[in-house]
Amino acid sequence: MKRTQSESLYKDACCHIVGGVNSPSRSFKAVGGGSPVFMEKGEGAYFYDVDGNKYIDFLGAYGPIITGHAHPHITEAITNAAHNGTLYGTPTRLENQFAVLLKEAIPSLEKVRFVNSGTEAVMTTIRVARAYTGRNKVIKFAGCYHGHSDLVLVAAGSGPSTLGSPDSAGVTENIAEEVITVPFNDPNSLEEALHKWGDDVACVLVEPIVGNFGIVEPEAGFLEKINELTHQAGALVIYDEVITAFRFTYGGAQDLLQVTPDMTALGKIIGGGLPIGAYGGKTDIMESVAPLGPAYQAGTMSGNPASISAGIACLEVLQQDGIYEKLERLGALLEEGLQTVIDNHSLPATINRLRGALTLYFTPSPVKNYDDADKSDDILFSKFFNKMLDQGINLAPSKYEAWFITIAHEEKDIYKAVEAAEHAFSEIEK
Ligand code: PLP
Repeated sequence: MKRTQSESLYKDACCHIVGGVNSPSRSFKAVGGGSPVFMEKGEGAYFYDVDGNKYIDFLGAYGPIITGHAHPHITEAITNAAHNGTLYGTPTRLENQFAVLLKEAIPSLEKVRFVNSGTEAVMTTIRVARAYTGRNKVIKFAGCYHGHSDLVLVAAGSGPSTLGSPDSAGVTENIAEEVITVPFNDPNSLEEALHKWGDDVACVLVEPIVGNFGIVEPEAGFLEKINELTHQAGALVIYDEVITAFRFTYGGAQDLLQVTPDMTALGKIIGGGLPIGAYGGKTDIMESVAPLGPAYQAGTMSGNPASISAGIACLEVLQQDGIYEKLERLGALLEEGLQTVIDNHSLPATINRLRGALTLYFTPSPVKNYDDADKSDDILFSKFFNKMLDQGINLAPSKYEAWFITIAHEEKDIYKAVEAAEHAFSEIEK
Protein backbone atom coordinates (compact mmCIF):
# COMPACT_ATOMS: atom_id res chain seq x y z
CA MET A 1 0.00 0.00 0.00
CA LYS A 2 1.55 3.32 -1.09
CA ARG A 3 1.27 6.23 1.34
CA THR A 4 3.57 8.80 -0.26
CA GLN A 5 1.15 11.73 0.19
CA SER A 6 0.81 10.93 3.89
CA GLU A 7 4.58 10.78 4.20
CA SER A 8 5.00 14.12 2.52
CA LEU A 9 2.26 15.77 4.61
CA TYR A 10 3.81 14.36 7.77
CA LYS A 11 7.18 15.86 6.83
CA ASP A 12 5.45 19.21 6.38
CA ALA A 13 3.48 18.81 9.60
CA CYS A 14 6.70 18.22 11.55
CA CYS A 15 7.92 21.66 10.38
CA HIS A 16 4.86 23.43 11.78
CA ILE A 17 3.11 21.28 14.38
CA VAL A 18 5.03 19.92 17.32
CA GLY A 19 5.83 16.28 16.62
CA GLY A 20 3.67 16.53 13.50
CA VAL A 21 0.53 15.63 15.47
CA ASN A 22 -1.99 17.43 17.63
CA SER A 23 -2.21 14.62 20.17
CA PRO A 24 0.70 12.28 20.98
CA SER A 25 -1.51 9.20 20.71
CA ARG A 26 -1.75 9.87 16.95
CA SER A 27 2.00 9.50 16.46
CA PHE A 28 3.41 6.17 15.28
CA LYS A 29 6.26 6.32 17.82
CA ALA A 30 5.02 3.20 19.62
CA VAL A 31 4.67 1.16 16.42
CA GLY A 32 8.08 1.57 14.84
CA GLY A 33 7.92 5.28 13.98
CA GLY A 34 7.18 6.55 10.53
CA SER A 35 4.40 8.64 9.17
CA PRO A 36 0.89 8.44 10.59
CA VAL A 37 -1.77 8.09 7.92
CA PHE A 38 -3.41 11.38 6.89
CA MET A 39 -7.09 10.66 6.44
CA GLU A 40 -9.17 12.72 4.05
CA LYS A 41 -12.65 11.38 4.49
CA GLY A 42 -14.63 9.22 6.87
CA GLU A 43 -17.81 7.53 5.73
CA GLY A 44 -19.64 4.98 7.87
CA ALA A 45 -17.15 2.31 8.88
CA TYR A 46 -14.57 3.47 6.37
CA PHE A 47 -11.71 5.92 6.02
CA TYR A 48 -10.12 7.17 2.80
CA ASP A 49 -6.59 8.53 3.09
CA VAL A 50 -4.89 11.26 1.07
CA ASP A 51 -3.31 8.61 -1.21
CA GLY A 52 -6.74 7.20 -2.08
CA ASN A 53 -6.40 4.06 0.10
CA LYS A 54 -9.51 2.73 1.83
CA TYR A 55 -9.51 1.43 5.40
CA ILE A 56 -12.00 -0.23 7.71
CA ASP A 57 -11.83 1.96 10.79
CA PHE A 58 -11.69 0.35 14.24
CA LEU A 59 -10.21 3.42 15.91
CA GLY A 60 -13.51 5.33 16.09
CA ALA A 61 -11.50 8.46 16.92
CA TYR A 62 -10.56 6.81 20.25
CA GLY A 63 -14.19 6.24 21.13
CA PRO A 64 -16.55 9.07 20.15
CA ILE A 65 -17.55 7.74 16.73
CA ILE A 66 -20.02 5.01 17.72
CA THR A 67 -22.47 5.76 14.88
CA GLY A 68 -19.80 5.56 12.14
CA HIS A 69 -18.36 8.56 10.33
CA ALA A 70 -20.59 11.30 8.95
CA HIS A 71 -23.84 9.80 10.21
CA PRO A 72 -26.54 11.72 8.28
CA HIS A 73 -28.66 12.53 11.35
CA ILE A 74 -25.67 14.03 13.19
CA THR A 75 -24.39 15.84 10.10
CA GLU A 76 -27.81 17.42 9.60
CA ALA A 77 -27.97 18.51 13.24
CA ILE A 78 -24.54 20.16 13.01
CA THR A 79 -25.41 21.88 9.73
CA ASN A 80 -28.66 23.23 11.15
CA ALA A 81 -26.88 24.45 14.27
CA ALA A 82 -24.23 26.23 12.17
CA HIS A 83 -26.94 28.08 10.23
CA ASN A 84 -28.22 29.51 13.52
CA GLY A 85 -24.80 30.69 14.70
CA THR A 86 -22.06 28.63 16.29
CA LEU A 87 -21.67 30.32 19.67
CA TYR A 88 -23.89 32.62 21.72
CA GLY A 89 -22.39 33.01 25.20
CA THR A 90 -25.95 32.84 26.52
CA PRO A 91 -27.96 29.86 27.72
CA THR A 92 -29.94 28.01 25.05
CA ARG A 93 -32.98 25.74 25.00
CA LEU A 94 -30.73 23.03 23.51
CA GLU A 95 -28.66 22.80 26.70
CA ASN A 96 -31.80 22.13 28.77
CA GLN A 97 -32.91 19.50 26.30
CA PHE A 98 -29.54 17.75 26.35
CA ALA A 99 -29.25 17.91 30.15
CA VAL A 100 -32.65 16.17 30.43
CA LEU A 101 -31.62 13.50 27.91
CA LEU A 102 -28.43 12.76 29.85
CA LYS A 103 -30.22 12.68 33.19
CA GLU A 104 -32.84 10.26 31.84
CA ALA A 105 -30.08 7.96 30.58
CA ILE A 106 -27.85 8.24 33.66
CA PRO A 107 -30.07 8.90 36.70
CA SER A 108 -27.17 9.62 39.10
CA LEU A 109 -26.69 12.90 37.23
CA GLU A 110 -29.09 14.93 39.35
CA LYS A 111 -27.41 18.11 38.07
CA VAL A 112 -24.99 18.47 35.16
CA ARG A 113 -22.64 21.06 33.69
CA PHE A 114 -21.34 21.01 30.11
CA VAL A 115 -17.65 21.61 29.37
CA ASN A 116 -15.48 21.07 26.29
CA SER A 117 -13.47 17.90 26.83
CA GLY A 118 -13.13 14.84 28.98
CA THR A 119 -10.04 16.39 30.54
CA GLU A 120 -12.02 19.41 31.73
CA ALA A 121 -14.84 17.20 33.00
CA VAL A 122 -12.58 15.00 35.14
CA MET A 123 -10.45 17.92 36.31
CA THR A 124 -13.55 19.70 37.56
CA THR A 125 -15.04 16.70 39.34
CA ILE A 126 -11.83 16.52 41.38
CA ARG A 127 -12.01 20.25 42.18
CA VAL A 128 -15.65 19.90 43.23
CA ALA A 129 -14.88 16.84 45.38
CA ARG A 130 -12.12 18.80 47.11
CA ALA A 131 -14.39 21.79 47.64
CA TYR A 132 -17.20 19.61 48.98
CA THR A 133 -15.09 17.49 51.35
CA GLY A 134 -12.50 20.11 52.31
CA ARG A 135 -9.80 17.47 51.66
CA ASN A 136 -6.97 17.33 49.12
CA LYS A 137 -5.86 13.84 48.16
CA VAL A 138 -7.07 11.81 45.21
CA ILE A 139 -6.89 8.05 44.79
CA LYS A 140 -6.80 6.69 41.26
CA PHE A 141 -6.02 3.35 39.64
CA ALA A 142 -2.81 2.46 37.83
CA GLY A 143 -3.10 2.64 34.06
CA CYS A 144 -6.45 4.46 34.01
CA TYR A 145 -6.21 7.64 31.92
CA HIS A 146 -8.22 10.65 32.96
CA GLY A 147 -7.08 13.35 30.55
CA HIS A 148 -4.09 15.62 30.79
CA SER A 149 -4.73 17.89 33.76
CA ASP A 150 -1.80 17.99 36.21
CA LEU A 151 -3.37 15.95 38.99
CA VAL A 152 -4.10 12.91 36.89
CA LEU A 153 -0.74 12.89 35.08
CA VAL A 154 0.75 11.13 38.03
CA ALA A 155 2.16 7.62 37.92
CA ALA A 156 2.06 4.94 40.58
CA GLY A 157 4.85 4.74 43.11
CA SER A 158 6.71 1.48 43.52
CA GLY A 159 4.20 -0.19 45.85
CA PRO A 160 0.49 -0.71 45.57
CA SER A 161 -0.39 2.30 47.73
CA THR A 162 2.41 4.79 47.63
CA LEU A 163 2.22 8.47 46.82
CA GLY A 164 2.64 9.24 43.15
CA SER A 165 5.43 10.79 41.14
CA PRO A 166 4.96 13.10 38.14
CA ASP A 167 4.26 11.28 34.89
CA SER A 168 4.98 14.37 32.80
CA ALA A 169 7.59 17.08 32.99
CA GLY A 170 5.91 20.22 34.28
CA VAL A 171 3.82 18.40 36.88
CA THR A 172 5.34 19.28 40.24
CA GLU A 173 6.27 16.87 43.01
CA ASN A 174 3.86 18.78 45.25
CA ILE A 175 0.95 17.98 42.96
CA ALA A 176 2.03 14.36 42.59
CA GLU A 177 2.07 14.00 46.36
CA GLU A 178 -1.66 14.65 46.39
CA VAL A 179 -2.30 11.55 44.30
CA ILE A 180 -2.25 7.92 45.40
CA THR A 181 -2.31 5.21 42.76
CA VAL A 182 -3.48 1.66 43.47
CA PRO A 183 -3.94 -1.36 41.17
CA PHE A 184 -7.32 -1.89 39.47
CA ASN A 185 -9.32 -4.90 40.65
CA ASP A 186 -7.43 -4.93 43.95
CA PRO A 187 -9.75 -3.86 46.81
CA ASN A 188 -7.11 -4.69 49.45
CA SER A 189 -4.72 -2.06 48.08
CA LEU A 190 -7.52 0.51 48.08
CA GLU A 191 -8.36 -0.40 51.66
CA GLU A 192 -4.70 -0.06 52.62
CA ALA A 193 -4.45 3.36 50.96
CA LEU A 194 -7.65 4.60 52.61
CA HIS A 195 -6.47 3.28 55.95
CA LYS A 196 -3.24 5.26 55.59
CA TRP A 197 -4.57 8.49 54.07
CA GLY A 198 -8.35 8.23 54.47
CA ASP A 199 -8.86 11.46 56.42
CA ASP A 200 -7.13 13.45 53.67
CA VAL A 201 -8.80 11.76 50.69
CA ALA A 202 -11.36 13.84 48.78
CA CYS A 203 -12.21 11.27 46.14
CA VAL A 204 -11.55 7.93 44.54
CA LEU A 205 -11.51 8.29 40.76
CA VAL A 206 -12.06 5.25 38.54
CA GLU A 207 -12.93 4.16 35.03
CA PRO A 208 -15.72 1.74 36.06
CA ILE A 209 -14.90 -0.35 33.00
CA VAL A 210 -11.36 0.41 31.94
CA GLY A 211 -10.79 1.58 28.39
CA ASN A 212 -7.23 2.84 28.68
CA PHE A 213 -5.17 -0.28 29.17
CA GLY A 214 -7.42 -2.08 26.82
CA ILE A 215 -10.92 -3.12 27.82
CA VAL A 216 -10.83 -4.44 31.37
CA GLU A 217 -13.97 -5.13 33.35
CA PRO A 218 -14.17 -4.80 37.11
CA GLU A 219 -14.28 -8.14 38.90
CA ALA A 220 -17.53 -9.00 40.68
CA GLY A 221 -17.98 -6.77 43.72
CA PHE A 222 -15.02 -4.46 43.00
CA LEU A 223 -17.06 -1.32 42.27
CA GLU A 224 -19.35 -2.02 45.24
CA LYS A 225 -16.25 -2.33 47.43
CA ILE A 226 -14.94 1.01 46.11
CA ASN A 227 -18.20 2.66 47.15
CA GLU A 228 -18.22 1.02 50.56
CA LEU A 229 -14.59 1.80 51.44
CA THR A 230 -14.63 5.32 49.98
CA HIS A 231 -17.83 6.34 51.73
CA GLN A 232 -16.62 4.86 55.02
CA ALA A 233 -13.61 7.18 54.69
CA GLY A 234 -15.90 10.18 54.06
CA ALA A 235 -14.69 10.63 50.48
CA LEU A 236 -16.56 10.75 47.16
CA VAL A 237 -16.59 8.21 44.35
CA ILE A 238 -16.08 9.67 40.87
CA TYR A 239 -16.65 7.58 37.76
CA ASP A 240 -14.75 8.63 34.68
CA GLU A 241 -17.24 7.52 32.03
CA VAL A 242 -15.62 9.51 29.24
CA ILE A 243 -15.15 6.29 27.24
CA THR A 244 -17.82 4.07 28.77
CA ALA A 245 -20.97 6.23 28.70
CA PHE A 246 -23.23 5.08 25.84
CA ARG A 247 -20.50 2.67 24.65
CA PHE A 248 -21.94 -0.58 26.03
CA THR A 249 -25.54 0.37 26.71
CA TYR A 250 -27.77 3.44 26.38
CA GLY A 251 -26.47 4.96 29.61
CA GLY A 252 -23.31 4.63 31.63
CA ALA A 253 -21.28 1.67 32.79
CA GLN A 254 -22.98 2.50 36.10
CA ASP A 255 -26.34 1.56 34.58
CA LEU A 256 -24.95 -1.59 33.01
CA LEU A 257 -23.32 -2.67 36.27
CA GLN A 258 -25.94 -1.16 38.63
CA VAL A 259 -23.46 0.66 40.87
CA THR A 260 -23.82 4.39 41.40
CA PRO A 261 -21.06 6.95 42.00
CA ASP A 262 -21.38 10.37 43.63
CA MET A 263 -20.13 12.17 40.52
CA THR A 264 -19.55 11.25 36.89
CA ALA A 265 -17.38 12.72 34.13
CA LEU A 266 -18.51 12.34 30.53
CA GLY A 267 -17.13 13.15 27.07
CA LYS A 268 -16.44 11.47 23.71
CA ILE A 269 -19.70 9.81 22.48
CA ILE A 270 -21.95 12.50 24.02
CA GLY A 271 -20.56 15.04 21.53
CA GLY A 272 -21.34 12.97 18.45
CA GLY A 273 -17.79 13.72 17.23
CA LEU A 274 -17.63 17.40 18.23
CA PRO A 275 -15.69 18.65 21.27
CA ILE A 276 -17.59 18.18 24.51
CA GLY A 277 -17.39 17.11 28.11
CA ALA A 278 -19.89 17.09 30.94
CA TYR A 279 -19.89 16.34 34.61
CA GLY A 280 -22.61 15.84 37.12
CA GLY A 281 -23.80 14.10 40.22
CA LYS A 282 -25.76 14.53 43.40
CA THR A 283 -27.45 17.90 43.73
CA ASP A 284 -25.88 18.88 47.05
CA ILE A 285 -22.40 18.11 45.70
CA MET A 286 -23.01 19.89 42.39
CA GLU A 287 -24.28 22.94 44.26
CA SER A 288 -20.65 23.50 45.33
CA VAL A 289 -20.10 24.79 41.77
CA ALA A 290 -20.21 28.51 40.86
CA PRO A 291 -22.47 30.47 40.66
CA LEU A 292 -24.15 28.56 43.53
CA GLY A 293 -21.04 27.51 45.39
CA PRO A 294 -17.35 28.22 45.94
CA ALA A 295 -15.84 25.81 43.35
CA TYR A 296 -15.13 27.84 40.22
CA GLN A 297 -15.54 26.39 36.75
CA ALA A 298 -16.33 28.25 33.55
CA GLY A 299 -16.01 28.03 29.75
CA THR A 300 -16.43 30.39 26.80
CA MET A 301 -17.19 27.47 24.49
CA SER A 302 -19.18 25.39 26.99
CA GLY A 303 -22.61 24.27 25.83
CA ASN A 304 -21.98 25.56 22.31
CA PRO A 305 -24.97 24.84 20.05
CA ALA A 306 -23.00 22.78 17.52
CA SER A 307 -21.63 20.27 20.06
CA ILE A 308 -24.91 20.10 21.95
CA SER A 309 -26.89 19.53 18.73
CA ALA A 310 -24.46 16.82 17.62
CA GLY A 311 -24.75 15.21 21.05
CA ILE A 312 -28.55 15.21 21.03
CA ALA A 313 -28.57 13.77 17.50
CA CYS A 314 -26.07 11.08 18.48
CA LEU A 315 -28.18 9.99 21.46
CA GLU A 316 -31.28 9.98 19.23
CA VAL A 317 -29.51 7.53 16.94
CA LEU A 318 -28.46 5.39 19.91
CA GLN A 319 -32.06 5.27 21.19
CA GLN A 320 -33.12 3.26 18.15
CA ASP A 321 -33.97 -0.41 18.64
CA GLY A 322 -31.26 -2.98 18.18
CA ILE A 323 -28.21 -0.70 18.40
CA TYR A 324 -26.45 -2.37 21.31
CA GLU A 325 -27.61 -5.80 20.17
CA LYS A 326 -25.85 -5.15 16.86
CA LEU A 327 -22.66 -4.04 18.64
CA GLU A 328 -22.79 -7.22 20.73
CA ARG A 329 -23.35 -9.40 17.65
CA LEU A 330 -20.48 -7.88 15.70
CA GLY A 331 -18.23 -7.81 18.77
CA ALA A 332 -18.84 -11.51 19.40
CA LEU A 333 -18.15 -12.28 15.73
CA LEU A 334 -14.87 -10.35 15.86
CA GLU A 335 -13.81 -12.00 19.12
CA GLU A 336 -14.64 -15.46 17.78
CA GLY A 337 -12.73 -14.81 14.55
CA LEU A 338 -9.67 -13.41 16.30
CA GLN A 339 -9.71 -16.25 18.82
CA THR A 340 -9.63 -18.74 15.94
CA VAL A 341 -6.64 -16.86 14.51
CA ILE A 342 -4.91 -17.06 17.90
CA ASP A 343 -5.71 -20.78 18.14
CA ASN A 344 -4.29 -21.37 14.63
CA HIS A 345 -0.92 -19.85 15.54
CA SER A 346 1.69 -20.01 18.24
CA LEU A 347 1.82 -16.29 19.10
CA PRO A 348 0.93 -15.50 22.71
CA ALA A 349 -2.32 -13.52 22.61
CA THR A 350 -5.43 -12.95 24.64
CA ILE A 351 -8.65 -11.03 24.03
CA ASN A 352 -10.75 -8.89 26.36
CA ARG A 353 -14.12 -7.84 24.96
CA LEU A 354 -17.27 -6.15 26.11
CA ARG A 355 -19.99 -5.67 23.45
CA GLY A 356 -18.51 -3.67 20.57
CA ALA A 357 -15.15 -2.92 22.20
CA LEU A 358 -12.24 -5.31 22.24
CA THR A 359 -8.50 -5.46 22.92
CA LEU A 360 -6.08 -8.01 21.54
CA TYR A 361 -3.09 -8.27 23.90
CA PHE A 362 0.08 -10.08 22.91
CA THR A 363 0.37 -11.92 26.19
CA PRO A 364 -0.84 -15.45 26.97
CA SER A 365 -2.24 -14.59 30.42
CA PRO A 366 -5.51 -12.94 31.43
CA VAL A 367 -5.51 -9.13 31.69
CA LYS A 368 -7.15 -7.80 34.84
CA ASN A 369 -5.01 -4.78 35.66
CA TYR A 370 -2.39 -2.47 34.18
CA ASP A 371 0.59 -4.71 35.02
CA ASP A 372 -1.07 -7.57 33.11
CA ALA A 373 -1.76 -5.29 30.12
CA ASP A 374 1.76 -3.95 30.19
CA LYS A 375 3.07 -7.47 29.55
CA SER A 376 1.58 -7.33 26.04
CA ASP A 377 4.59 -7.61 23.73
CA ASP A 378 5.51 -4.26 22.14
CA ILE A 379 7.32 -5.74 19.17
CA LEU A 380 4.58 -8.22 18.31
CA PHE A 381 1.97 -5.48 18.61
CA SER A 382 3.99 -3.13 16.42
CA LYS A 383 4.35 -5.80 13.70
CA PHE A 384 0.67 -6.68 13.94
CA PHE A 385 -0.44 -3.05 13.77
CA ASN A 386 1.63 -2.34 10.64
CA LYS A 387 0.56 -5.52 8.87
CA MET A 388 -3.09 -4.74 9.59
CA LEU A 389 -2.66 -1.17 8.36
CA ASP A 390 -1.08 -2.39 5.13
CA GLN A 391 -4.21 -4.51 4.58
CA GLY A 392 -6.51 -1.54 5.15
CA ILE A 393 -7.43 -2.12 8.79
CA ASN A 394 -7.09 1.06 10.85
CA LEU A 395 -6.32 0.38 14.52
CA ALA A 396 -4.99 2.64 17.26
CA PRO A 397 -1.17 2.76 17.17
CA SER A 398 -0.85 1.61 20.78
CA LYS A 399 -1.03 -1.77 22.47
CA TYR A 400 -3.14 -0.24 25.27
CA GLU A 401 -6.07 0.88 23.12
CA ALA A 402 -9.32 -0.82 22.16
CA TRP A 403 -10.84 -1.67 18.80
CA PHE A 404 -14.18 0.10 18.62
CA ILE A 405 -16.98 -1.28 16.45
CA THR A 406 -19.60 1.20 15.25
CA ILE A 407 -23.18 0.68 14.16
CA ALA A 408 -21.99 1.33 10.61
CA HIS A 409 -19.82 -1.81 10.57
CA GLU A 410 -21.28 -4.88 8.92
CA GLU A 411 -20.47 -8.59 9.09
CA LYS A 412 -18.36 -8.31 5.94
CA ASP A 413 -16.09 -5.75 7.64
CA ILE A 414 -15.55 -8.08 10.57
CA TYR A 415 -14.72 -11.00 8.24
CA LYS A 416 -12.20 -8.82 6.40
CA ALA A 417 -10.55 -7.77 9.65
CA VAL A 418 -10.29 -11.40 10.79
CA GLU A 419 -8.86 -12.43 7.43
CA ALA A 420 -6.29 -9.63 7.70
CA ALA A 421 -5.40 -10.75 11.24
CA GLU A 422 -4.92 -14.34 10.00
CA HIS A 423 -2.54 -13.07 7.33
CA ALA A 424 -0.74 -10.78 9.81
CA PHE A 425 -0.22 -13.62 12.33
CA SER A 426 1.11 -15.92 9.54
CA GLU A 427 3.55 -13.25 8.36
CA ILE A 428 4.76 -12.46 11.89
CA GLU A 429 5.34 -16.16 12.59
CA LYS A 430 7.56 -16.60 9.52
N1 PLP B 1 -11.05 10.10 30.61
C1 PLP B 1 -10.92 9.00 29.86
C2 PLP B 1 -11.38 7.68 30.42
C3 PLP B 1 -10.39 9.06 28.58
O1 PLP B 1 -10.23 7.96 27.86
C4 PLP B 1 -10.01 10.33 28.08
C5 PLP B 1 -9.43 10.44 26.73
O2 PLP B 1 -9.03 9.51 26.09
C6 PLP B 1 -10.17 11.45 28.88
C7 PLP B 1 -10.70 11.31 30.14
C8 PLP B 1 -9.81 12.81 28.37
O3 PLP B 1 -10.73 13.22 27.41
P1 PLP B 1 -10.34 14.33 26.33
O4 PLP B 1 -9.32 13.72 25.43
O5 PLP B 1 -11.65 14.64 25.66
O6 PLP B 1 -9.81 15.50 27.07
